[in-house]
Amino acid sequence: MVVAGERLARYGFPDGHPFGQDRHAAFYAEFTARGLDRRVRLMETRAATREELETFHTPQYLDLVAERSISGEGFLDAGDTPAWRGVYAAAADVVGATLLASEEIMEGRARRGFVPIAGLHHAARGGAAGFCVFNDCGVAVEVLRRKYGLKRIAYVDIDAHHGDGVFYGFESDPDLIFADIHEDGQFLYPGTGRAEESGRGAAEGTKLNIPVPPGADDSVFEAEWPRVLAHLRKYQPEFILLQAGADSVEGDPITHMRYTAAVHERAARDLAALADELGHGRVLGTGGGGYNRINLAQAWSGVVQGLTS
Ligand SMILES: [Zn+2]
Repeated sequence: MVVAGERLARYGFPDGHPFGQDRHAAFYAEFTARGLDRRVRLMETRAATREELETFHTPQYLDLVAERSISGEGFLDAGDTPAWRGVYAAAADVVGATLLASEEIMEGRARRGFVPIAGLHHAARGGAAGFCVFNDCGVAVEVLRRKYGLKRIAYVDIDAHHGDGVFYGFESDPDLIFADIHEDGQFLYPGTGRAEESGRGAAEGTKLNIPVPPGADDSVFEAEWPRVLAHLRKYQPEFILLQAGADSVEGDPITHMRYTAAVHERAARDLAALADELGHGRVLGTGGGGYNRINLAQAWSGVVQGLTS
């Protein structure tokens, strides 16, 4: 199943911001051109409730977003993520989309899911960051645990940027199995995700950070990807989240990586096969970053194909 539609499309920033509201339409045009809308069930999003958002985010931060969403002024962080009127509702709809897709999977109505405008991996428990207001993946992990009693959940991230909001949100949590291949933080925002960052305390070893150099192409991905699959096999997660940021594809305006979109389809297909091998089949893909519209359309349509193959 795929969550899409006008409500989800609203999440974006005005005035020529790279994360504009046209990203959904760019994906949707390619998705329908490939006939994928006839292969999967489409659903409209729902709003995440305050209670659901509070499983990950602090009440103080939620209050701040609510307040700036009315005024529509200022920034939600140090200057990457501007406030606009209605931003709270739009961001809650993104989280609701990821929760809805998780519920469809957990309740057996869908085997896999994909949400194009989601995977907002930079948002911290207590603040916005890097175009991300609420961290839908972080909330989904917490809600899947509470609502369905899942113990071990995997988060895999192939966006060019390190998924710092998820990583630091669960750094000391041994049950969040984390694997992230990203452009080396010496060259790209947010600057984190060194190979030595492998989890703290009881979580030591449950986190796998793989920084790759600027210009990394498919051959680099091919060399590193088996480590991600081995990491997941070791911990046998009961649910797999994939953040499939398309900004790791060559030609993105704000990163320096050089994958082709084939990487994204390959990652989705391999994770779907792994989830089947683990006996549950549960994989939920999110679009994440990606600021070249052609790239995101290709990469995310490939993810849908990989998850449904
Ligand atoms: Zn990114």
